Amino acid sequence: MKKKIALIFPPEITDKPLITELVKHHNIVVNILKASISGGKQGKMTLELSGKDSDVEKALEYLSKENLEVIVYTDSVIRYEEQCVECGACVGVCPSKALTMSAPDYLLKFDMELCVLCGHCVKACPVRAITFFDDEA
Ligand code: SF4
Ligand code: SF4
Repeated sequence: MKKKIALIFPPEITDKPLITELVKHHNIVVNILKASISGGKQGKMTLELSGKDSDVEKALEYLSKENLEVIVYTDSVIRYEEQCVECGACVGVCPSKALTMSAPDYLLKFDMELCVLCGHCVKACPVRAITFFDDEA
């Protein structure tokens, strides 16, 4: 199982070795997709957790008991398809080919599995047809 999650750290636990705990004691492979964190300030990390279903579930349980906010992405980004004008601006900035547009229809396609949550598409879209899941909250 793979899960993409975001962790919002309050300042007092930015130095806690949570990633080490996930790797060493929960058998999780952790892929850090994005991180903005420094000691003593609120921080955010976006991670992809991979492992056996039961290990990933236990790891999420462990994180939920820590003093931090855990967002489990049910979707990497949200697309408002009715707003999309198929301009392709997001395709050009997507580093992982999660967004594509090709013949014959040239309609925008999104592959959630490939998305690394970099946010480039959100900034590039001229009509705000893409946003992040947690931006909705
Ligand atoms: S967030 Fe980044 S990787 Fe994901 S679809 Fe947008 S540009 Fe592509
Ligand atoms: S940048 Fe926005 S309007 Fe253009 S194709 Fe992407 S989602 Fe659609």
